Amino acid sequence: MTDPDQTSDIVIGIDLGTTNSLAAVVGKEGPRILHDADGRALIPSVVSFLDGGARVVGSKARAMSVTNPRRTIHSVKRLMGRGLSDVAAELPRLAYEVTTDGATDLARVSVDGRLYTPQEISAMVLTEVKQVAEAALGRTVEKAVITVPAYFDDAQRQATRDAARIAGLTALRIVNEPTAAALAYGLDTSREGTVVVYDLGGGTFDVSVLKITQGVYKVASTSGDTHLGGDDFDNAIIDRILELVAAKTGYDLKVHPQALQQIRLSAESMKVELSAGETSTLEIELDAGEPFRFTLTRAEFEDLIRARLDETIACCKAALADAKISTGDVDEVVLVGGSTRIPLVRRMVEETFGRTPHTELDPDRVVALGAAIQASVLAGGNRDLLLLDVIPLSLGIETVGGAFAKLVTRNSTVPCRAKEMFSTSVDDQTAIDINVFQGERELVRDCRKLGAFKLRGFPPMPAGLPRVEVTFLVDADGVLTVTAKEQRSGAEASIDVVPSHGLTRDEVKGIIRESIAKAREDFAHRELVELRNKAHNLVVGTKRVLAMPEMPFTDAQRDDLHSCIAELERLSHGDDAKALSKACDAFGEKTQALADEAIGAAIKAELNKELGRLPS
Ligand code: AMP
Repeated sequence: MTDPDQTSDIVIGIDLGTTNSLAAVVGKEGPRILHDADGRALIPSVVSFLDGGARVVGSKARAMSVTNPRRTIHSVKRLMGRGLSDVAAELPRLAYEVTTDGATDLARVSVDGRLYTPQEISAMVLTEVKQVAEAALGRTVEKAVITVPAYFDDAQRQATRDAARIAGLTALRIVNEPTAAALAYGLDTSREGTVVVYDLGGGTFDVSVLKITQGVYKVASTSGDTHLGGDDFDNAIIDRILELVAAKTGYDLKVHPQALQQIRLSAESMKVELSAGETSTLEIELDAGEPFRFTLTRAEFEDLIRARLDETIACCKAALADAKISTGDVDEVVLVGGSTRIPLVRRMVEETFGRTPHTELDPDRVVALGAAIQASVLAGGNRDLLLLDVIPLSLGIETVGGAFAKLVTRNSTVPCRAKEMFSTSVDDQTAIDINVFQGERELVRDCRKLGAFKLRGFPPMPAGLPRVEVTFLVDADGVLTVTAKEQRSGAEASIDVVPSHGLTRDEVKGIIRESIAKAREDFAHRELVELRNKAHNLVVGTKRVLAMPEMPFTDAQRDDLHSCIAELERLSHGDDAKALSKACDAFGEKTQALADEAIGAAIKAELNKELGRLPS
């Protein structure tokens, strides 16, 4: 393999984390992490704004979080591509101000009266990562592969791409974190099978099921909890200490912020110590009296955190069920995230899957190493890998009556393309709105709107005659382009969908759960909408035929058709699907018989038109 350190087109891998970020590159010796001048690899994903317009990024910024909390921005990854209403639950955990720009709901960070997009803050972190990489490599870096959680949606991936661009980096590929972890372990072309990536960090838990076939990676399912991690284990120890101190001395340490801060730091050290040893002891100086001594054994610590770890195992099982496999089908398990150093985590994962998980690589670095491997592939290294992901929620457009026509179904592998033909619902339309939605329900009012555009400039034609081909293209990064083309006139329009809202994985889970719970009700609604459309098409087609002077209908036939039309229109306004269905069938038979009798093949086709109709 060539040494990318020396090649002209260097591409680095970046793990852009919620808490820390780091960069790696593949050199002659294989993938390696890049360090700063002080030998540090982890760059805290934190930006602190100082007086006079200056700012610091990384460990210097993190050190400011206590003294400059309102102007020290951490965890901005949680805000990327999200609306303020999406992140409402996060806000109490953030000491800085999050607002919107007033025009949209998109989250903005407010510092000293200036608004920053999460992309801008993220770009400041990426600039720091770029500088560390450039100093380590002794050359400029302009291209990168950046990792994101597997559940990141289109808006969140776009936002990550934008952040890179602001930082002067081209993101050649946005790669899923679990896929990068599997790549780092070399679970690639040489093996086929199913890999579970269990990622337990400081604040979040993610589990992903990856399927590898002939070097193609596919994220088959994901699950997790955006608020479960090492911080909770620290809190469990803190609560225990507070309880014991209160019982022994009557002190309520909660009202002593400084003591509490000291205990927080000690609790994390105790936790880390208990990953290596069997006991850990803490001594706290209280204002008066004896120092308070507290010893925690590993077994006691395990009892404190077991319930939370059970939740992670339940998520693993949910992910397996979603991927329609059982633990016996899993070939490899990979551990990612600092909290997977806890022995109980390893034991529980091993018991669940019946195999020893991979722990050979540093769990804090494995994602960056994998990103570097993908980067070297893109830079022209000799590995032959493809990375594929799946679409978390179905994508489609609104059709007449508010029905949701799904073009790309959930769990389709990207890149993918889907095409469907539609038509108009009203005579002489020269423009139509294409409304793009995401969701699992049958009506668009229960789905999430991603964007809209207008296809205009085609000549007026009777309803049902225009042939509008709608194409959905989802590229390898999960970015969606929707194109609509009226085939008779060649009129065309398209958009890249940059949704104004992102979705959390919990929301995706909720949407799927709801679609299952409401399936019966949705089906009934959908059936009614479809019947109304069918009735509408029958009415429009028949009225058109009735208006043709050359039609050899008798007066009695005309009267009969007019009264049938009136009946269909009446039933279309009601909710009785059964009666409407019967009336449509009867009307269909009647018009069919008339068509057979008196109308040429072209008109028959007109009456039978089956294209989905778009809203007027
Ligand atoms: P990450 O977000 O992946 O960097 O993970 C950070 C979390 O891992 C923090 O909660 C750390 O306290 C925790 N952590 C790091 N090392 C250890 C260890 N040896 N034992 C237990 N937890 C650890």
